Amino acid sequence: MSTSTGLIDRWGRRHTELRISVTDRCNLRCTYCMRALPVKFLPHSELLTFEEILRFVKVAVQLGVSHVRLTGGEPLVRRGIVDLVAMLAQVRGLDDLAMTTNGTLLAPVAGRLKAAGLHRLNISLDTLEPQKYCSLSRRDLLAQVIAGIRAAQEAGFEKIKLNALAIRGQTEPDIIPLTEFAREAGLELRFIEYMPLVDLPSEEALQPLPAAEILRILESHFGELEPEAPGHDQEHAPARVFRFRNGPGQIGIIPPMSDPFCDRCNRLRLTADGALRNCLFSNVSWDIKKLLRSEGPDERIAEEIRQAVLAKSWARGGETEKLPILPAPMHKVGG
Ligand code: SAM
Ligand code: SF4
Repeated sequence: MSTSTGLIDRWGRRHTELRISVTDRCNLRCTYCMRALPVKFLPHSELLTFEEILRFVKVAVQLGVSHVRLTGGEPLVRRGIVDLVAMLAQVRGLDDLAMTTNGTLLAPVAGRLKAAGLHRLNISLDTLEPQKYCSLSRRDLLAQVIAGIRAAQEAGFEKIKLNALAIRGQTEPDIIPLTEFAREAGLELRFIEYMPLVDLPSEEALQPLPAAEILRILESHFGELEPEAPGHDQEHAPARVFRFRNGPGQIGIIPPMSDPFCDRCNRLRLTADGALRNCLFSNVSWDIKKLLRSEGPDERIAEEIRQAVLAKSWARGGETEKLPILPAPMHKVGG
């Protein structure tokens, strides 16, 4: 199998990151991600097995993928997830193995995840107010998230990032408390502009809080923030990072709505049911599960990955006028 050229698309973007949704299930029901009920989840037999995920990752790494992020749904609800981490951590050429989690189930497994070889953790936390957390996630589990963050720190994870969704009319009062919490705990917080991806009923419709507004609120409290020049490892990172002038710490803002970062996109996504997608918004996918479950050689899988990269549109799955509704829910595609 050729390994020399890397996964470069028609616009010269080199694809080095793979996001894997290990399950579409979740123990939360965040208003911005899922409809309340009923949510129809995949039967277990439709999910890729750990062996299938491992085989796919090995092929992708040979083609040039060097970063893998496990996500979902909630990755920690997938039984045996620590074993999957241990399997992937052994893949030669995989430089970075990360996970995005809501943190509610993290405390009991943080140490084992670290020991298994997980490098980095992003933990989603939108508010420090228990009641608000409950209304945003439809579950009363804030204390468990805080315990998860502490356990991850004690387990020795460095550079834990917190992700907070930025929703107009909801997030504004949380910006300063979350920032102070992150600074005191030595964590990097990133606000992510809400993307209207789920087809919510109009009475539940949400609006993003734009990056400029987040920055204004931060600066009105902390004084002027210093933009950080993108470093080597930030080449593809979509966050705009700022340093505080009045002490340690930095803060990130991810602006998919007000300043899309498609020009720097280096991501591929594998859905929980084994479909390869070249963009969050693309409605085309490549059926990897079928290949994995046939007798075909690894080269067939490699060819499918190359095809997916070559077919990638410049931006937003080819939609230029407006942000499309996601072809599959975020918890299935993998956030
Ligand atoms: N369950 C895990 C979690 O919440 O961290 C991982 C999956 S979740 C889909 C991954 C990330 O996507 C979370 O940080 C979540 O806040 C973000 N997300 C979900 N819906 C979103 C939306 N509509 N716009 C922007 N980000 C969203
Ligand atoms: Fe679950 Fe994460 Fe979606 Fe919230 S954002 S419902 S925690 S998958």
